[in-house]
Amino acid sequence: MSLKELIMKKIDIAIIGSGIGGSLTAALNKNKDIVVFEKDHNLGGCASTFKRFGAYFNSGATTFVGYENGHIIKNIFDKVGLKPDILQSEIAIRNIQGNKKVDRVQNFEEFLTQLNNVYYHKNNRVFWTKIKQIDEKFWKLKHIYFAKYSLKAFFKSSIFILELLKEFKTDLLISADKFINDTLPNISAEYKAFIDSQLLITLQTTSQNATLLSMSLGLAYPFHKVFYVNGGMGKLIEDLLKDVKVNKNEQVISIQKNDKQYILKTTKDEYLCNKVVLNSTIFDSSKLFEDEKIKSYFQGFKFGDQSAFVVYLKLNIKKELIHHYQIVLNKQIPNCISNSFFVSLSDINDEKMSKDGLSLTISTHSKAIFWEGLTKKEYEEKKEETKEFIIKEFLKYFDTVKEENITRSFAATSKTFYSFINRTNCGGKPINIKSAFSLPSCNTPFKGLYNVGDTVFAGQGWPGVAIGVNVLNKELNKI
Ligand SMILES: Cc1cc2nc3c(=O)[nH]c(=O)nc-3n(C[C@H](O)[C@H](O)[C@H](O)COP(=O)(O)OP(=O)(O)OC[C@H]3O[C@@H](n4cnc5c(N)ncnc54)[C@H](O)[C@@H]3O)c2cc1C
Repeated sequence: MSLKELIMKKIDIAIIGSGIGGSLTAALNKNKDIVVFEKDHNLGGCASTFKRFGAYFNSGATTFVGYENGHIIKNIFDKVGLKPDILQSEIAIRNIQGNKKVDRVQNFEEFLTQLNNVYYHKNNRVFWTKIKQIDEKFWKLKHIYFAKYSLKAFFKSSIFILELLKEFKTDLLISADKFINDTLPNISAEYKAFIDSQLLITLQTTSQNATLLSMSLGLAYPFHKVFYVNGGMGKLIEDLLKDVKVNKNEQVISIQKNDKQYILKTTKDEYLCNKVVLNSTIFDSSKLFEDEKIKSYFQGFKFGDQSAFVVYLKLNIKKELIHHYQIVLNKQIPNCISNSFFVSLSDINDEKMSKDGLSLTISTHSKAIFWEGLTKKEYEEKKEETKEFIIKEFLKYFDTVKEENITRSFAATSKTFYSFINRTNCGGKPINIKSAFSLPSCNTPFKGLYNVGDTVFAGQGWPGVAIGVNVLNKELNKI
């Protein structure tokens, strides 16, 4: 060890990023010598809550799902000893398309009755029963595991694949589109849009590129309990990290590998670490390394340009509205890749988020490339155009809200996400039959270097990221 290394601060496990992945991993290992480095002032990345103009807003994620017995999220929270301050949204999501409305409620029969009222198909029961059954089976799997680069990892991943084959058999090979066309022949364009708009949110893709398995997990999301988080989504992250050493406002700039350890250079200091967990996206991690082998490993993952456009509103009203709406339009949103947007409102009784009125996060899908190569003026104009379009459409559907009730409005693009949380891509890579085997895993070919987050197995959102956290935790603790 060099003299320089001798005087450096030592850490056993350094976690780069306080997103869902970094925070759940840190909480599960809170008794170890562990430090979480977070570039931003707020914790949680896409699942953070921030303050602007004196009001609080959820930056991206707003729905919390999986806090129910037997589910991975509750299991992790129980292990960590955290009881979240949450409120079940009885109507998980109200889906509105023109004059058609379907409430995604947990109760299957109630949901089916509503669905049949607006998107009747004689096989609706068969279709949705299958979706629900596949989802239920998935969350009961015992050996969910996906890692690479060692014989042991290969063996354990094979056990998982065998379990998948045993449970799902040929269903595993069926594409979402085929299942829809076979089960719901002559499905109307509107009904298909109802399905696809939900998949875009949960899977970042439509039925065209999904498998029956991934479509089932995406569509069955509201058959689980969906929760509103009091105090904002970021409160969950803060609670998860309350017993963990967190270095906020400290960005990791470079990571250098020596024989057995990693030297971390941050905006404030240098550290010598035994293990490094990267919660940066798989596409952004290469920038941190000079070592050619590590760099080229990360560069091997093709950039998935799935990004978000988000509008934040503060309303000077306090009305009891449901927490989440999805509005499906009959036209495309400008500068976006979707014809729908997702509206989340703060709960009227949430003292922090609803102080002086409701706080809204409205999100839709865009691409990072749409916001690149523009002059400042062009960028601002494009952003304003998209924001105003969404606000205008939003007002059409919420007749209890008038334009004059909006006291603050501003928006975020992939550029905004980059400047705050270092990522332009905002969403996991959709898993389909082709991409399943090229997915990044939580371990890397380099000893002591790990990945976690929504661009790594198993994907995005609290449940998807948590699956990866479980695998990573086994690797870190060599179970
Ligand atoms: C608009 C939108 C709405 C969504 N809605 C939902 C929802 O309702 N429910 C749901 O479950 N999921 C939702 N998701 C998905 C979910 O938010 C993400 O999948 C999840 O939050 C990603 O977690 P992650 O672990 O990958 O970390 P990230 O959120 O990517 O966070 C990574 C963190 O690492 C930090 N970081 C990166 N590089 C460095 C560095 N070099 N040094 C220090 N810090 C660094 C970043 O600042 C960031 O805080 C939504 C996502 C978006 C964008």
